[in-house]
Amino acid sequence: QANERESLYLVSEYAKEYYEGVLWNTEPGKAVGLSYFKERGFTEETIRLFGLGYGLDEWDAFTEQALEKGYQLDYLEKTGLTIVKDDPRNPGQKRKFDRFKGRVLFTIHSLSGRVLGFGGRILGNDKKAAKYLNSPESEIYHKSKVLYGIYFAKQAIAREDNCYLVEGYTDVIQMYQRGIRNVVASSGTALTPEQIRIISRLTKNITVLFDGDAAGLRASLRGVDLILEQGMNVRICTFPAGEDPDSFAKNNAYEDVVLYLEENSKDFIQFKTSLLAKEAANDPIKKADTIRDIVGSIAKVPDRIKREIYVQQCAAMMNISEEVLFNTLAQIGRKDF
Ligand code: ATP
Ligand code: MN
Ligand code: MN
Ligand code: MN
Repeated sequence: QANERESLYLVSEYAKEYYEGVLWNTEPGKAVGLSYFKERGFTEETIRLFGLGYGLDEWDAFTEQALEKGYQLDYLEKTGLTIVKDDPRNPGQKRKFDRFKGRVLFTIHSLSGRVLGFGGRILGNDKKAAKYLNSPESEIYHKSKVLYGIYFAKQAIAREDNCYLVEGYTDVIQMYQRGIRNVVASSGTALTPEQIRIISRLTKNITVLFDGDAAGLRASLRGVDLILEQGMNVRICTFPAGEDPDSFAKNNAYEDVVLYLEENSKDFIQFKTSLLAKEAANDPIKKADTIRDIVGSIAKVPDRIKREIYVQQCAAMMNISEEVLFNTLAQIGRKDF
């Protein structure tokens, strides 16, 4: 329904203005929210550009304002901005609650710059609450089809003919502020085919930047096969332990970040091969599994010439004949060799 969608956009755009207003114009907003962002190294210009905000630590401050302005509860609920549920202090009675309370907010924009939803981060590192709380799925916000930062990055992605893919909101913002603007985030989830399609209309080259904590690096590599399947060229860049693109871009000059990215981005198949080869070096059974794993990735590459090159490289790196690799490739479904 076009009408309902439009109403959801409008209430989301109102929410963005409201939460920005709280950040810039209220005492708690300035003392807690704005100082949080400034402490992370974001300039006022950056904070404005990305539409960052703050939700007061009150139960329904936003909802009350929105209703007063004439926005309908139905739409506030459908965007998840307001949650209607039992009042713990009055059992059996319903109450309205703001979803985002006592959190700094990251506005999530569509490709064309409309407001789709928000990501809210708790302040500090309180382990009891989820670090990030996001808008729920709605008629306007489908998280599997959205890339955080795409509205700000799209021209640079096309111009640079490359897209940096990072994990989180702060990575996008910090890299952008540092001058590297072809950056988007999948926001915590594995990259989906829809998200890859959005990028592939702008460039065929993706460089995935992994957090230095490396937690789940191996699992994440599996997700990368999806990108290969769509015929994209994938490069991987990791960061020093304890660093992510956010901290790295915050602590290094533009030239040094660019240099780091250039020197440490490796072709995905080569990266995966060298990573796994080290682990399997002295164990024949592990090595066989590893080879099947890597050949599985090579099989995803639609371009036959590229596959052939990968086979040659992998054979050399794994110290095994190309023939065996071609046979394995044929076994797992690539019969056009
Ligand atoms: P920060 O620097 O603020 O601690 P980050 O962006 O480095 O945050 P990570 O822990 O590396 O956070 O997670 C990467 C991304 O994954 C986040 O930006 C967020 O989009 C998503 N994410 C992380 N934790 C959660 C969570 N508890 N719930 C939902 N999404 C999350
Ligand atoms: Mn991480
Ligand atoms: Mn991170
Ligand atoms: Mn971080």
